[in-house]
Amino acid sequence: MIRERHLFGPGPSNPYPEATRALAEPLLGHLDPEFLRIMDETCDMLRTVWGTDNARTLPLSATGSAGMEAAFVNTVHPGDVVVVAVNGLFGQRMTDVAARCGAEVVAVEHDWGQPVDVDRVLSAHPSPAIIAAVHAETSTGVRSDIAALGAGKGDALLVTDAVTSIGGIELRADDWGVDIGYAGTQKCLGVAPGLAPFTINDRAFERRVETPRSWYLDLGMLGGYVGEAGVKGGQRTYHHTAPTAMVASLHGGLTRILEEGLEAVWTRHQAAGDALQAGLQEMGLELFAAEGSRLPELTTVNVPDGVDSAAVRKQLLDRHGIEIGAGAGAYAASVWRIGLMGRNARPDAVLLVLAALRDVLGRA
Ligand SMILES: *Cc1c(COP(=O)(O)O)cnc(C)c1O
Repeated sequence: MIRERHLFGPGPSNPYPEATRALAEPLLGHLDPEFLRIMDETCDMLRTVWGTDNARTLPLSATGSAGMEAAFVNTVHPGDVVVVAVNGLFGQRMTDVAARCGAEVVAVEHDWGQPVDVDRVLSAHPSPAIIAAVHAETSTGVRSDIAALGAGKGDALLVTDAVTSIGGIELRADDWGVDIGYAGTQKCLGVAPGLAPFTINDRAFERRVETPRSWYLDLGMLGGYVGEAGVKGGQRTYHHTAPTAMVASLHGGLTRILEEGLEAVWTRHQAAGDALQAGLQEMGLELFAAEGSRLPELTTVNVPDGVDSAAVRKQLLDRHGIEIGAGAGAYAASVWRIGLMGRNARPDAVLLVLAALRDVLGRA
């Protein structure tokens, strides 16, 4: 992530206090008809970026992980078999969440850096209630084939984590057979964290748990929020106070994406990722994610032998205002993760990252 003109600066030396103060201005009320219009438009635009007609498509008021929790807490009946494809940190998190919801979890483990092995996942159990997979594994920089899982899911419900894919790479929930999907706002949508764009189709909604163990994430109650039976403008019932500022932020981000054109946005991410990955390899660096499954929006690089991963990250930030991630889990010190999401997915950002890395690593 490149530090540009942000709402909050990097600390006490905040260079843009007037922008930070804007966040403390009075806001529209959460029941104001004008805000309800913004919410309805946001849900409509979310349908477009999800690639779905699902009436029940809305931003849940919590981060992407709560979307994950909502998916399982509403659909896992005690003892249900949930097959989870695990090829990174977020697949692992799914196994934890599903188990806490009472599932009998069948985890299909993969080497990190590899895409989901569809055949292995589909044959892991003869009749799972749910099959779950991460579309874009942010911990490893890998894309998996959700359409193939959807084609082979049989009677199971397909839960898909699209936190890092939504608004970045091709995502077609309905065409691919996704029954339940959750996402986040702070990755490729490029706006404030704190909401979980969520979608669930009728088939999954009908199979839901009558009284989920979570009150806040009970979709049966939230159903009233998007209108009776999801009908736009239908009856709204009070459930909780919508985080109006974050919804407005999401509305702004989605408007920007749809004005540019969703497919154009996907193409822009792909071009930026391709250019970054080619440049890194020209510099003699090795990529971590398996070739053919590399995400454009999140590139994983092996830290070269003898290089202090944390020191390089600190110099990139201090000298060049560029923040890259450490690796996840066992790869914390041996992999870097470079994000080109949303506004950062552009040619000048690629050049900047490559030049800065060359400088810090002392490579020609
Ligand atoms: C970031 C991320 C999450 C968690 O989202 P939060 O908003 O941090 O709760 C889940 N899955 C994937 C693939 C992610 O990248």
